[in-house]
Amino acid sequence: MALEDTIIQLKGMGKKFKTANGPVVALDDINLDIRRGEIFGIIGLSGAGKSTLVRCINMLEVPTSGEVLFEGQDLTSMSEAGRRKARQSMGMIFQQFNLLAQRNILKNICFPMEISGERRYSRTEARDRAMELLKLVGLEDRAGAYPAQLSGGQKQRVAIARAIATNPKVLLCDEATSALDPNTTKSILQLLKQINRDFGITVIVITHEMSVIESICDRVAIIDKSHIAEVGRVSDIFSEPKSKIGRQLILGDAVTNVAFDNSRKIRIIFDGRESMEPVIANMILASKVPVNILYASTRDVGGKAMGQMIIQLPEDADSAGRALHYLDTVKIPYEEVTGDDI
Ligand code: ADP
Repeated sequence: MALEDTIIQLKGMGKKFKTANGPVVALDDINLDIRRGEIFGIIGLSGAGKSTLVRCINMLEVPTSGEVLFEGQDLTSMSEAGRRKARQSMGMIFQQFNLLAQRNILKNICFPMEISGERRYSRTEARDRAMELLKLVGLEDRAGAYPAQLSGGQKQRVAIARAIATNPKVLLCDEATSALDPNTTKSILQLLKQINRDFGITVIVITHEMSVIESICDRVAIIDKSHIAEVGRVSDIFSEPKSKIGRQLILGDAVTNVAFDNSRKIRIIFDGRESMEPVIANMILASKVPVNILYASTRDVGGKAMGQMIIQLPEDADSAGRALHYLDTVKIPYEEVTGDDI
């Protein structure tokens, strides 16, 4: 579907909580445009502010500064009635499913239609629509079951059916697959993708798992310590994360606590005395310092390496020193490379 316009816009949005220990800044100066019809991911570590962000989008939490525009209208300056109406255009699903335990699943799905202020549904109408949705999520034969009788994946399917029962424009998913095993996660993500594609519902996915973003999102915002660290197309951010937190989430801890931006580069000369791979691997193991290999032109000659390799050392002088110390100890020749001269 065409991604033509902005459906949700956050402008300088912030949220502070008052606590007994003083104010907690959960979000600060958040600026985001979410486009109609896209699957937008928001990823960050625990405590980064993801849940607060998604709850501010539908006004379950009221931001303490900035604006939340939904289809061009600022929800922060609306009456509670206006916000409630806007909230009905935004379905939501949660990690813990939040189904009504005392109602069977057909009645769980009918529930939002019973309380809908937007459009009145007769009982038969609500029932027919609920059955249609159960079919869509593959549970038409479980209409009379109670939530406790279902698996986690089935409960999330019911929650999805319930969330889209009143034809919302947006579906907010707060860690919706975090309580599920990998296979069930996959099938729920496929269902979200199908709903996005078939009904054009904009989907916003909050997660701490990069694999979730990778499998269904068009664009992603990385959030770190209450701020947006970077936003972009998933393919761009995955191939070249620019923020430290982006590198950490995508590449893993080993590479990342380390800054390489303004660091020294060295050329290692392989003259046939050493085999190539153990030199670099042993250097990393002995010095506990990760390096970037920028360029390698080496040939394996009877198990020995000939040629050269340019590696980039971490910015931090101690770490760089440890890596070089290893090369000195094992008497591998190297020279400093300056600028872009490789
Ligand atoms: P995430 O979803 O990324 O784990 P949250 O949005 O839940 O992060 O929390 C962000 C920050 O805001 C955390 O420091 C958290 O302790 C704080 N926070 C969230 N909700 C409340 C609340 N109702 N009262 C006080 N602090 C809160």
